[in-house]
Amino acid sequence: MQLPLAPSEPTVKVSIPLRSKIPYDYDNLEWIMDLPFDTTISSLFLMLSTSVPESHFSPYHISRYNVSQPLNNESKIPIPQQIHNLTVVSGPSSFSSHLINISHPFISFLHTPLSSNPVVATLIPNPTCSDTILLCFDNDLTLTFHRTVRMPDNGDDQIHDLPASCGAFRLWNATEWAERLPAGMQEGVLMPMWRREAMWIAFSADGERSYKLRVMVGGVNAVSGGVVTDGENEQGKQDQQDYVVVPGQPWIDGIAVEPGVVRQFVAMPLGSGYTVEGQVTGKEKKGGFQIEIIPSYPHASPGTVWVVGTDGERKELELEKTPEEQGCKEGDVVYWQTPLTFREANLRDFLTEEEAESEAEVGVLKLEAEYDPRSFEPSSRIRRRARHYFCDIEPEEDDTEMEAEQAMELEEDSFLVGNYSPPFRATSEEPSECPAQSGLSNAPPVGFSPNMTPVSPVYEAPEEFQQVIHDRRQYRQGPVKAQPAAALSAKPAKPANIKALGLAAGGKLHQVINPDPHPPYIWDNARKCTVNIHILSPENFEEVTGIVAPGCPITMEEYVRAGIPVYEMAEEVVGGVGTGEVLGQVKSVGSMDKVMLNRDDAAQGLADEDTAGPRRCRRCEERLCDSVVRPCNHQFCWECITKEKGEEEVLRRCLQEGCRVVPIRVARFAAPMNVPGKEMKEVNVPVVKLTLNGGKPMAVAV
Ligand SMILES: [Zn+2]
Ligand SMILES: [Zn+2]
Repeated sequence: MQLPLAPSEPTVKVSIPLRSKIPYDYDNLEWIMDLPFDTTISSLFLMLSTSVPESHFSPYHISRYNVSQPLNNESKIPIPQQIHNLTVVSGPSSFSSHLINISHPFISFLHTPLSSNPVVATLIPNPTCSDTILLCFDNDLTLTFHRTVRMPDNGDDQIHDLPASCGAFRLWNATEWAERLPAGMQEGVLMPMWRREAMWIAFSADGERSYKLRVMVGGVNAVSGGVVTDGENEQGKQDQQDYVVVPGQPWIDGIAVEPGVVRQFVAMPLGSGYTVEGQVTGKEKKGGFQIEIIPSYPHASPGTVWVVGTDGERKELELEKTPEEQGCKEGDVVYWQTPLTFREANLRDFLTEEEAESEAEVGVLKLEAEYDPRSFEPSSRIRRRARHYFCDIEPEEDDTEMEAEQAMELEEDSFLVGNYSPPFRATSEEPSECPAQSGLSNAPPVGFSPNMTPVSPVYEAPEEFQQVIHDRRQYRQGPVKAQPAAALSAKPAKPANIKALGLAAGGKLHQVINPDPHPPYIWDNARKCTVNIHILSPENFEEVTGIVAPGCPITMEEYVRAGIPVYEMAEEVVGGVGTGEVLGQVKSVGSMDKVMLNRDDAAQGLADEDTAGPRRCRRCEERLCDSVVRPCNHQFCWECITKEKGEEEVLRRCLQEGCRVVPIRVARFAAPMNVPGKEMKEVNVPVVKLTLNGGKPMAVAV
């Protein structure tokens, strides 16, 4: 699917007077901001709380003279309940005409307006670490792609705990670079990765839904090994779960090779024969990730349905069943009462009916503000305690008794203020046609304001928003190792030879793919969508975008030396999904290397580093070559090059060894990796034990 570019919405100039904290100072400021009409009052208050100057009070309520009641960040607007008559028919269902097909489950029928909304995938900035999150479905389901260390791949007996995040991958919208990309890569997301670099994907969703995600690597399902052909008919076992459920699955680190064990996702070039796609399908064409997302219906009920029998008795019907399954016949009338729902107040709630019809003519929305009634209390200490309810300031120890008493009184007063809930705005609007949609928030993504472009690759969120957004990498956090991105001013000609990387299998990790706890009818299959994640090598990525990809990942030795922990999840292997029938046969990068090295050691030659097999570094014999000398194409490992006191020494040595052309520079082409059998045997780092709490990992012990 194509990711949308920056949206343009109708905006309005909002003006709010701010009151000075100095008593009798009437030199009041005005807070002015251009905002979309959809801006919720809670996000307006969030902006106010971070941008009102220290010298002025932040409003407690805002209202519009003669038009609206006071609203604040907790105001909710009720959507009235309604009763509709639905007629059972044998023909097709029609939601707008209230006709339901006799074999249409109620839950699916009642969510019809919602099901016609496509899932929208957007990239939003992660202000806490200047990298990017892939965000799906408004502000709810997020996928974060984490860089990590490649765990040792010494054979089948060694299974490791989960490595930390070494920073998230930045992601770019492929649509922005479509004209510079080959066909088939022009939609979705671009992600630069080093050859032999490992990664994992974190999932999170805090909203009103669950999500079903099929993670595919080059068209091969990472859980079941099933193959998705272009016709989208999956040649896998239909009776086995081949997806993960979020919330419930916090992350996925690799392909499921046996219950409770995955092999790390490791990037390798297509055409090398290493990828999972190549080993399972015999072809290496797609590469990257394809992620299919199916949201559930909202967990909140779409209301109640019942019939009235000939005896006049009301009989409740079950939502997950069809009319036919519950004894209804063609022509029967079923009653549907919509649930009592609320929506968040937004700027439109300050408009009159006429204004709401022609938003463009509103001009400036002049709002009134109310403040904490104790704002002008002369004793600052008492005032501070009086505001205790609002801002959680602890009472001071040295208060005199009298002051404490006064403070108590004031505290009670302010408690009343705190509990005061404003009356809802009287409305004569037609009730909403589709109550199922009422739970949808129109709030712009956090950190987004109309003047910012959410998909810009160099976007940094303004400082004032950074403190309010929690770090999604809360656990499994490690050092960020990335170079700042530098964009070229002009785009060069369309690059040739852009090839995607695919995903191969690395070392084994303990990871359970959790079973789906939900009944099958909750999934809204009509809203299924797929996002493609195209992986490019750093060179290819720079050729396309003019942006320098983040630096090479760290080695396992550096990871151990830095004492970065690994993570052990408390999880139930029994009942875990992913039998490994197909994926258990996939050879790891290490075992492929072993075969390739034995074959190539006989005939050592110089070749393209992209598709040729691995090469032992001829200096140390410990590591594989990951760097190449230009233009002679002699290969070494980076460690040897840096040990040689810099590139110049290597270039000199290269010349001594009889290079006919003068070496110019050294280029890295892969993440560091040891020769098979020379990998670290014991990974001695702290182990953090995690447990899953409501879909979120929590640390229990170190
Ligand atoms: Zn070496
Ligand atoms: Zn050379």
